[in-house]
Amino acid sequence: MLTSSEIKKLCEREPKFDDMICSLRAISKQPKKIYSETKEVVALARKFNNEVVRPYVTELDRRVQEDPDFLPHEFVKEANRWGLYTLWMPRIFGGKGYNLPSFSYFIEEIASVCTAMANLVGVHYLGVATLIATWNTRIIHQIFREVVEGEKNDKPCLISLALTEPGAGTDVEETDLMDRGNIACHARKVDGGYQVNGSKVFISNGHLSTWHMLFSFADLEKPSSNLVMLAVKSGLKGFSLGRKERKMGQKGCPASELLFDDCFVADENVCFDPEQGRRLSRSQTETTMQLIDYVFSASRAGVGAFGTGVARGAFE
Ligand SMILES: Cc1cc2nc3c(=O)[nH]c(=O)nc-3n(C[C@H](O)[C@H](O)[C@H](O)COP(=O)(O)OP(=O)(O)OC[C@H]3O[C@@H](n4cnc5c(N)ncnc54)[C@H](O)[C@@H]3O)c2cc1C
Repeated sequence: MLTSSEIKKLCEREPKFDDMICSLRAISKQPKKIYSETKEVVALARKFNNEVVRPYVTELDRRVQEDPDFLPHEFVKEANRWGLYTLWMPRIFGGKGYNLPSFSYFIEEIASVCTAMANLVGVHYLGVATLIATWNTRIIHQIFREVVEGEKNDKPCLISLALTEPGAGTDVEETDLMDRGNIACHARKVDGGYQVNGSKVFISNGHLSTWHMLFSFADLEKPSSNLVMLAVKSGLKGFSLGRKERKMGQKGCPASELLFDDCFVADENVCFDPEQGRRLSRSQTETTMQLIDYVFSASRAGVGAFGTGVARGAFE
């Protein structure tokens, strides 16, 4: 990490606008420990911007324009070398354990230069939050260990969140809407696991991730009370990556289609299913909503920070 004099120097110049409070100015009233950690994270983001993001931003744009199928593996490797994929993972699972609010300030800094690169780092934590939300410590431990190993071995191990479907966006984010929506990703209980059929769309970093946190449903008539959350590894039989969306912006960050064709996911990768849900005191629907709420509560501040960063970048 950075030395205290580096942090001081990188935090010297704060963005200042008449009608917008951003970066460290927006966090000055937080508890001391949170503030000092955030300062460290902001300094790291500024250094990363200077050394990696700014020099690469035009090049990344050019490469995606020339070849829409281009995938920024080199950037992901560089972010991995900087330790960015374990910064906000809990220490007990081998991560660096930085406080989650500081994540938004990091994202704001990177997005003020390039939203695609901010997403290439940030979206991994959507997957991290989803995995944590399952409370399945065995699988959390297994996958986080791979992320940590990947950092040591220069082989990035990213996690994506696979929730949105071709026929269900908002409808799959809210239990009141789920049962009336057009959800189609089906997980059928079979001996030793689940057999999955269906597809997911708009999955950020899908083409770059090793693990995908998949929301599927055991009963499509009543998905809200039949959630099956699976950890699917790239390369698994019956799982493939489809097209990359042709986006208007953030083109350097792929939004992927995930296809499941009789894909068998073994019990050991079932993070949560109705059988486990029945053992809890609350209803299955409440558990589904709680899980989704956790993912969105943990991630929407970061999504807001992308916007703040973009606005800041435009002003600056
Ligand atoms: C760049 C990008 C990256 C993404 N990354 C991911 C990802 O990593 N993982 C993932 O799972 N998903 C991802 N998504 C999908 C994203 O979560 C969905 O786009 C979002 O849930 C909205 O769904 P939709 O696009 O189908 O819009 P719709 O659900 O069709 O909504 C369209 C409009 O209708 C409104 N609306 C919908 N339902 C109602 C209602 N009942 N009452 C009133 N208004 C309503 C909405 O507010 C919205 O304004 C990504 C999307 C984008 C654009």
